[in-house]
Amino acid sequence: MFRKIVVVFLILTLLVSFKIPALASNSDVLNGKVIILDAGHGVETTNYFRGYDEQVAMLALAHKIKPLLEAHGATVHLTRSTPANVLLSTRVAMANIWSLYALRRAMVQNADGLDSISGELEEIDRLINVMVYVVIKPEDNASVYFNTPFSPTETIHPDLERIFELQSSSFIADNFLFVSLHSNATAIPIDTAAHGADIFHISNEHHSLTDYYFNYSHVERSIAFGEVLLDNIHETGIQRQTVSPANFFVLREHNLPAVLAENGHHTNAGDRAKLMDDEFLDKLALAYLDAIIAFFNDSNALQSFLSANLLNPSSAWTRHNFRISWSDFGSRFP
Ligand SMILES: [Zn+2]
Repeated sequence: MFRKIVVVFLILTLLVSFKIPALASNSDVLNGKVIILDAGHGVETTNYFRGYDEQVAMLALAHKIKPLLEAHGATVHLTRSTPANVLLSTRVAMANIWSLYALRRAMVQNADGLDSISGELEEIDRLINVMVYVVIKPEDNASVYFNTPFSPTETIHPDLERIFELQSSSFIADNFLFVSLHSNATAIPIDTAAHGADIFHISNEHHSLTDYYFNYSHVERSIAFGEVLLDNIHETGIQRQTVSPANFFVLREHNLPAVLAENGHHTNAGDRAKLMDDEFLDKLALAYLDAIIAFFNDSNALQSFLSANLLNPSSAWTRHNFRISWSDFGSRFP
């Protein structure tokens, strides 16, 4: 009996010592956090290169990250959960709907009575409906509410601007993250030597946005997350490249903390071999989990990065930023 207990004890000790601390164990460290994973492309728009299929690899990665986040208490939405194509407008409209729903729920939970916020709720419901129209009838509505490539006009639609204002709240800053997953390719002619991971974020300084919108609220948080994520990706063996501004559609048509990650170059043999390796994708998924936990919780790195850049008055990321706090909705919100 005693021997049996010793053996069991030894096995338990071994199991515990082989676990990666914080990552392997479940926790509620991401309770209340909402992460939108946008697996790039779909069968109709994917990039193939020498046996590699971007939409397959990125969907696999999304399906690996999702349960890791959920095991730590997060709510995870996938803009695409099968190989089928999902329009860019639908991906972004869904992100807007998910964030408005969460905001609405938080308002109801924090309100003294529903009467006192009926006006705000009515407005949020109207805006949710607007985004639902985009999902249901993109051919008629995507170009009305979103900028190019769907529309020649360069002015933001007032309803989308209203959504952006709601998304500027500290509730969104504290609880939301949008991550678009891709792999990179060099333009023709293919430069097979180019390799490594890059991260992109929206910027209020982007020249193409000056007539559209330049008041994105979560730029600095997005950049800080991108820096941490890129460090983590580097540790998996994919070379760290840069965190840079871009006005990609999936970053531009919402006002959520967001990055688009190019997880290496599939036109490079070394990066491609990694991205086609299921065990490597497991490692990469853990890199995401670790960065997302740091983003929402730990964030010594995040805080020092933010304060260093916020102290710099010429910082491109802070110049146009504003944020609606709960108090802007009235004293009902802590
Ligand atoms: Zn892509």
